[in-house]
Amino acid sequence: MTGTPLTFYNSLTRRPEPFVPLDPGNVRIYSCGPTVYHYAHLGNLRAYVFTDTLTRTIAWKGWPLTHVINITDVGHLTSDTDAGDDKMEAAARASGRDIWSIARHYTDAFKQNLTDLNIRTPTHMPLATDHVAEMIAWGEQIAGRHCYRLADGLYFDTTTVPDYGRLAGVADDAAHGRIETVAGKRHPQDFAIWRTTPPGETRQMEWDSPWGRGAPGWHLECSVMAAKYLGPAFDIHTGGIDHREIHHPNEIAQNQAHCECGDTGANFWMHNNFLVDRTGKMSKSSGDFLTLTRLIERGFHPLSYRLMCLQAHYRSELEFSWENLAAAQVRLKRWVHAVEGLRARTAGESGATSAAYLTQLDAAVSDDLATPRALPVLDAMLSDKKLSPADRLATLDAFDAVLGLALGEATRAALRVRPADATIDDATIEARLAERRAARAAKDFPRSDAIRDELAANGVEVMDGDPLGWDWKLPA
Ligand code: AMP
Ligand code: ZN
Repeated sequence: MTGTPLTFYNSLTRRPEPFVPLDPGNVRIYSCGPTVYHYAHLGNLRAYVFTDTLTRTIAWKGWPLTHVINITDVGHLTSDTDAGDDKMEAAARASGRDIWSIARHYTDAFKQNLTDLNIRTPTHMPLATDHVAEMIAWGEQIAGRHCYRLADGLYFDTTTVPDYGRLAGVADDAAHGRIETVAGKRHPQDFAIWRTTPPGETRQMEWDSPWGRGAPGWHLECSVMAAKYLGPAFDIHTGGIDHREIHHPNEIAQNQAHCECGDTGANFWMHNNFLVDRTGKMSKSSGDFLTLTRLIERGFHPLSYRLMCLQAHYRSELEFSWENLAAAQVRLKRWVHAVEGLRARTAGESGATSAAYLTQLDAAVSDDLATPRALPVLDAMLSDKKLSPADRLATLDAFDAVLGLALGEATRAALRVRPADATIDDATIEARLAERRAARAAKDFPRSDAIRDELAANGVEVMDGDPLGWDWKLPA
């Protein structure tokens, strides 16, 4: 491995640590995936922009890797403690639809979000419901020494493993949000391994088990799928900061019970901070929340959202606003404009990468993925007249590899957002605009206005004097 040594902040030790892979031939990473009872909101997607930056950085630095993002299609209750209803069952009841088709629909939508954000496809995207037999087997193995039965299921006794909750680092149960709890639990932190269906009730998703017909507890799936696809000890486990308090300590407890050792599963636990929204549009349960589709419908390119995320460090809270997003989109357009200019001046010859700029990029991302520091380096590189256009384009490839902004392929046309029902094509628009320019040059303003009106009727907004040279757009 060359370049700056990689350092990540490890939530387990609460400090930055040098990253040394367990197996340099295969870095293994597990990311808690979405609960597919609804579309992912923009905050959820921040978690995967973060993991994508992580895997891109590791890959760019030369390590092959295996990345798992699971799909939670069973078990996640409306409260992360064991209270409330299963989110999937509740969504099925509320919509009157079949739970399996709900899961499929939102899983596909999530995959589309990943594609739109230029997030690399993970090596595995396992479904929790495909692993219920393995979850039951795990439960059977730990039940004797670590669990107890209650009428509504099998519960994990968190006092049977060393150091329960050291990841969260909060001893106070109230701070854990565990006031809402299940009757009969020995300790407020104890959690369900299996949830037995109450007599007289049925769930759309349920399986037979030694603890009755029912469904697995939510935390179990991640221990089981991480161990299955990555082995009992792997390199990095990621999730949003909310998971540091309950879900991940519970995974660690299950791992410790399973191996009868102090092992936590992953060497590094990394958590992204939240995307927040003052108007409360970042909660799936509210039903009215911000999705990537909504952003695209408002005329934004999805990579503008990616850039907005990269402008903040993943461990800092980031406030969503349309103004921030618009600013990111302008920055993206400026870069695309610059890259198109460079391309026009290279006529296809290949250039050499600039070691100086790659060193700066490496220094930034190797320091716990400091993307806000990498972006000004990109600015400086693109406008560095001392580098030939071909050399700048060659150097851009590294920035694209790490930051995933796809500037090398982007065209202005791609950054124009086209409403689904627009029928006019780009060539027609360009031809009409050329006619309009000719009309204006000839001072034939009625003709020029008529063309503008015709374009407007087709949803095309003509932007005279746009400083970035974007002379039209299709507003959503
Ligand atoms: P969920 O679909 O609720 O299981 O969450 C999927 C991922 O999004 C998890 O890693 C969460 O920790 C993360 N997450 C949830 N809300 C936010 C938010 N507002 N900002 C950033 N990440 C979030
Ligand atoms: Zn998980």
